Amino acid sequence: MLKYATKQRKMLLSLLCQNADKPLSATDISAALAPEGISKSAVYRNLSALEKEGKVQRLTVGGSNKVYYRYTGAKECEKHLHLSCSVCGQTFHMDVPATNSLVNEVMNESDFKVDSANTVLYGVCKQCRK
Ligand SMILES: [Zn+2]
Ligand SMILES: [Zn+2]
Repeated sequence: MLKYATKQRKMLLSLLCQNADKPLSATDISAALAPEGISKSAVYRNLSALEKEGKVQRLTVGGSNKVYYRYTGAKECEKHLHLSCSVCGQTFHMDVPATNSLVNEVMNESDFKVDSANTVLYGVCKQCRK
């Protein structure tokens, strides 16, 4: 049983990882994993476990009850901050030099180490402002 749960978790993580920029709701995730025989309740259970472990982040879209999930475990994501569009839910990975100066500034000024992979700035993307 434990082995089975690990497999579900792996599949869930790899799905999130492959779609790191796309907003995925729990419904999208369970629809994608249904052919693999993973139930909706298993998806929810795994998502909340991964969220507690800090491997997955929950993003909300402004003005709606929509909740999206984002994978935060990618190595390169430790090096930059993230932008989340509160209209379409898309995640943007900030380019490294810009992130570094901000993160370093915070470190110098406040002696505070920013957890970049888990740091999201909310706003509205270019497309959604048109
Ligand atoms: Zn990233
Ligand atoms: Zn947008």
